[in-house]
Amino acid sequence: MRVVVVGGGIAGPAVAMALHWNGVEAVVLEGRPRSDGREGSYLTVTPNGLDALEHMGALSLVRDAGFPARRNVMLGSRGQRLGEVGLGEPLHDGTHAVTVKRSLLSMCLAQEAERRGIPIEYDAPVAEVADHGSSARATLTDGRTFEGDLLIGADGVHSKVRRAIDPHAPSGRYVGLLNFGGITRDTHLAEELPEEAWEFRFAKRAFFGAARTPGRDVVWFVNLPGPEIDRAQRGAISPDAWHHQLAELFTGDPGPAAELIAAGKLELVADNVYDLGHVPTWHRGRLVVIGDAAHAPSPSSGQGASMALEDAALLTAALRRHPTVEDALARFVHQRRPRVERIVATGARTSSAKTPGPVGRVLRDAILRPVFRYAVTDKSMAWIYDHRIEEVAPARDDF
Ligand SMILES: Cc1cc2nc3c(=O)[nH]c(=O)nc-3n(C[C@H](O)[C@H](O)[C@H](O)COP(=O)(O)OP(=O)(O)OC[C@H]3O[C@@H](n4cnc5c(N)ncnc54)[C@H](O)[C@@H]3O)c2cc1C
Repeated sequence: MRVVVVGGGIAGPAVAMALHWNGVEAVVLEGRPRSDGREGSYLTVTPNGLDALEHMGALSLVRDAGFPARRNVMLGSRGQRLGEVGLGEPLHDGTHAVTVKRSLLSMCLAQEAERRGIPIEYDAPVAEVADHGSSARATLTDGRTFEGDLLIGADGVHSKVRRAIDPHAPSGRYVGLLNFGGITRDTHLAEELPEEAWEFRFAKRAFFGAARTPGRDVVWFVNLPGPEIDRAQRGAISPDAWHHQLAELFTGDPGPAAELIAAGKLELVADNVYDLGHVPTWHRGRLVVIGDAAHAPSPSSGQGASMALEDAALLTAALRRHPTVEDALARFVHQRRPRVERIVATGARTSSAKTPGPVGRVLRDAILRPVFRYAVTDKSMAWIYDHRIEEVAPARDDF
């Protein structure tokens, strides 16, 4: 079997590695140039995503690229503590959730895939994909073609493969937040933050998250409520001006946000936040979508990368277990849809709590305390973080 994977973000290299781990040949086509793993912001891979990595022999690589995060601590607009929730049971070897730079995670997975002999084509934007019954084909913008028994679209929330499967497929929904991220190096403010945890503040004008690294650095992000912006609008404000505006947002608020931002380096500027809930059709013939291309939880869920990794391991397991590609894709979608759609819905609720008006803010502070005491608890979140992939059945002879 030969598989063509469109997209070299997180799901793409992961599924190529999971397939290769099981003896299947794969090639990855990535539209962008090779990354140095330094751009953008951080995300957290929770134990369910780490478990999936273990199924492709890539756990230690990701663990070593990041630092542990065991819990999220939530604070209200006056700095009052609203609650705390753990990020799941550690894996059997004691590994807790890992916070890692998003581009570094992607780079590590891609480098490991290449080290194992999986070709990754960079600067290879796919213009078109087609199902030909017994095979599928990707055509690049430069006219080169790649053919396989299966084509996996791991091409993100604005997926082309999703549209090729179903021309009426929905687009990502803007959730009303702009995302900014940065890092403040070697700062005494690290000591104000809990260890191995993210601290989240539902502040007056924006949402702020920060985590200290095992050194004295602090990584942070800001979710700013507002309309979606385009590239020209983003570029019309200089990075310095964005940076200044961001620090101003938290001036007068309790906590270290304003000082951390002012002293830090801005690494992600005004990124529109999208989610994608119900996609009616994930597969057609020899084409299938996984990761954000099929279901994109907003970053507020903290689950996009982990879901992409789970998909990679579980699609591979389905292909191993079921006699035909068609059966395997149908089983995969049947198995995955309820879980991922529930997670997208959970993320959407969290995003909307970040975008209230002034009246909503007072109500929100009042409502969130009981929410974090009774509704969002270690127990109620266990279905997300404590999900584990069962041992897969032995490979079919013809796999
Ligand atoms: C700021 C931010 C914070 C986040 N925080 C978290 C978190 O804490 N925890 C978590 O689990 N998730 C988080 N997420 C979500 C997570 O990053 C995504 O869910 C995850 O990256 C999805 O992986 P993917 O491989 O499906 O898509 P992507 O990572 O978007 O990768 C898609 C790839 O496809 C390529 N591509 C697109 N079109 C084409 C084409 N036509 N031809 C070739 N290549 C193409 C793109 O260049 C890209 O490299 C966050 C996201 C953002 C933006």
